[in-house]
Amino acid sequence: RITKSFPTKNFERLVVLDDMSLNIKRGEVVCVIGPSGSGKSTMLRCINRLETLDSGEIRVLGEYVGYKEVNGSMELLSEKATAQQRQRLGMVFQQFNLFPHLTVLQNIIEAPTVVNGVHRKEATKVALELLAKVGLTSKADAYPGELSGGQQQRVAIARALAMNPEVMLFDEPTSALDPELVGEVLRVMTDLAKAGMTMIVVTHEMQFAREVADRVVIMDKAKIIEDGTPEEVFENPRSPRTREFLARVS
Ligand code: ATP
Ligand code: MG
Repeated sequence: RITKSFPTKNFERLVVLDDMSLNIKRGEVVCVIGPSGSGKSTMLRCINRLETLDSGEIRVLGEYVGYKEVNGSMELLSEKATAQQRQRLGMVFQQFNLFPHLTVLQNIIEAPTVVNGVHRKEATKVALELLAKVGLTSKADAYPGELSGGQQQRVAIARALAMNPEVMLFDEPTSALDPELVGEVLRVMTDLAKAGMTMIVVTHEMQFAREVADRVVIMDKAKIIEDGTPEEVFENPRSPRTREFLARVS
């Protein structure tokens, strides 16, 4: 269970997340949509503590992000404990961020072996299973530069999954791809959703949101202006701003 109770995030004096509350249940797939600058990436970055909040709190799977409760008061977690917490979340970015000097297989086994001390042989076995899942078994020994954008993004998903995350965060995973490569990445994400993964997906892919999301959240100017099932949000939006936004993007 992910709970965000009214967190606020300010950069200088620009409010980026404003009094927002969002509850995501285990196994839920939530698509987050909204105009550029509305705070979508910042929200994801706060959830995995790449950014810190100025006020409010975020709970992921029962734990306060960046803090622990000790005798009723909140104590800041050490960097190490924060890193351990972050491991429960897999993150996939718009720019695939693979290590260019490592092969596909090496990219995937890097964190499990170096960070978690998993034996190389075991990590390789898991990596090959994940590569099969994303349809890239034949590319295990290729370098990222030899792959298409869609293939690189599928490797990035496999790499995130190799750490066995409980929640996957996606920040516009298909926005940097040529249109013909979007489908193969969305297919992998759809499989993941069907397998029961908890997912928060910032995306402009309306059809994916319609078909795969349990819930659609629309952000505008640091606030959540819509939160409901795809039917509710797309067919019957509450706010005129949502209608305006949807008319522009779909
Ligand atoms: P996009 O669709 O373009 O990715 P977004 O909804 O992800 O937009 P954010 O990247 O979360 O938006 O940014 C929200 C606001 O916070 C923007 O006004 C942005 O300029 C500002 N912002 C983001 N990161 C920082 C930072 N590190 N320092 C200062 N301002 C920032
Ligand atoms: Mg963004």
